[in-house]
Amino acid sequence: MAVQRTFSIIKPDATARNLTGAINAIIEKAGLRIVAQKRIRMTREQAETFYAVHKARPFFGELVDFMISAPVVVQVLEGENAIAKYRDVMGATDPSKAAEGTIRKAHAKSIGENSVHGSDAPETAVIEIAQFFSGNEIVG
Ligand code: ATP
Ligand code: MG
Repeated sequence: MAVQRTFSIIKPDATARNLTGAINAIIEKAGLRIVAQKRIRMTREQAETFYAVHKARPFFGELVDFMISAPVVVQVLEGENAIAKYRDVMGATDPSKAAEGTIRKAHAKSIGENSVHGSDAPETAVIEIAQFFSGNEIVG
């Protein structure tokens, strides 16, 4: 399996509880390298673009409001099989269904306020990384 890059967000519920370092420790322990990272306040437009695939879902408005409610930390993670590996490390979307040892099991508050995002496929990873980082901000 080749080295891949994936896009990660430490979401507002986690930054608000000072969990950036705790989550980064889990990421690094899993063998993923943080090759770009910045703390930002997402605009409504950025959040709507980012989650456009969920526009028709009943929770879309709530999701966008949540993502702009506090700072987030956007990241690029690199490693062998990074996309699937990070999805494993994150755990299930609903923390009550997340496996022991995952970020969402340890830290997520609810299915909406679930602490982290990770890309779900190589094509989405490329698009998501490009939405928030220029090439020279990613240092492998
Ligand atoms: P993400 O895309 O954030 O990595 P995911 O891929 O596990 O999470 P998706 O199905 O893509 O889950 O949903 C995107 C996000 O929308 C979820 O992480 C969660 O914050 C929110 N969400 C999903 N389902 C619900 C729901 N039923 N109620 C409220 N929010 C939800
Ligand atoms: Mg998703």
